[in-house]
Amino acid sequence: MQAAPMRIIFCAATDPQPWLEALRQEFPQAQLAVWHSGAPPADYAVVWAPPQQFFDEQTQLKAVFNMGAGVDALLKRDIAPQLPLVRLSDAGMGVQMAEYVCHALIRHTRQFDVFEAQARTGQWHEPVPLERAHYPVGILGLGVLGERVASAVAALDFPVLGWSRSPKQVAGVRSLCGMDQLPAFLAQTRVLVNLLPLTPETENILNRSTLSQLQAGAYLINVARGRHVVEEDVLALLDSGQLAGATLDVFRTEPLPPAHPFWRHPRVTVTPHIAGRTMLPETIAQIAGKVRALEAGLPIEGLVDRSRGY
Ligand code: NAP
Repeated sequence: MQAAPMRIIFCAATDPQPWLEALRQEFPQAQLAVWHSGAPPADYAVVWAPPQQFFDEQTQLKAVFNMGAGVDALLKRDIAPQLPLVRLSDAGMGVQMAEYVCHALIRHTRQFDVFEAQARTGQWHEPVPLERAHYPVGILGLGVLGERVASAVAALDFPVLGWSRSPKQVAGVRSLCGMDQLPAFLAQTRVLVNLLPLTPETENILNRSTLSQLQAGAYLINVARGRHVVEEDVLALLDSGQLAGATLDVFRTEPLPPAHPFWRHPRVTVTPHIAGRTMLPETIAQIAGKVRALEAGLPIEGLVDRSRGY
């Protein structure tokens, strides 16, 4: 008897057609569908922020593939405890994050915004040369993306520290870990990059108390989640001079509301959650590889540990 074809369902608020076509290339025999209430059961799901009804109805899933690295939206749902959830591991996001962070870091430390303003009024002022030793870069989260960013920053000869839950060995990066070492990490950091997952432990971690422990005139680059940051505290610390500026890609409310003070703050750069975009070819290639491994009974990487929240 022939085996039943594999069934894959897609559920995300984006045009499904390119995703289904890419899945069709990988699995020509599979039954592919876009989820709607009452859709037939599937074996595998490719999702971004699916509604609760999706999980209530799709009870035969063997695994769920999240179309991003962060699973905070997914974990808000009530999901059968044994159902494997798989996050994206890099899948083309690491290089984008490295570009974004290096750009923000270089723009700040080499004063490109100052030169842009000067150029508009025809001014020629040479600054003192940059001393990298005065700009230690601390990276919160040394996971898949944090490690890639840390290595890129270290390659630019900045001193680099990383903070994670467990100790790491990354060339050119001083690893600190756990709550006990957070004060030491902050005290040695001038440019703070946030690449933590959003969990109950990390929500609001960037607040008046922690940001005040950074070196004076610190710079914040947040590319993780808006809910890591107490936004009023950032504004107050910008006004007091404790923070020299910030480049922010993510916000508590997205899109950032038109009246939000970040839009008009002269030392804040706002980008619309684009630091690490989900790339279709890399994402489907990664998911397809993992579906094949699961079908063959092999272990896969990128399984979400629900007790940790990432
Ligand atoms: P990851 O591989 O899971 O890495 C997470 C890192 O954070 C790990 O090093 C982990 O430590 C550390 N960590 C977690 N909880 C901690 C805690 N309580 N204390 C100390 N360290 C803790 O995640 P990733 O793939 O690098 O992605 C990171 C985040 O980036 C995502 O969760 C998402 O929110 C964000 N993101 C944003 C965009 C964007 O466009 N802005 C795009 C993609 C991702 P251990 O290694 O010791 O476990």
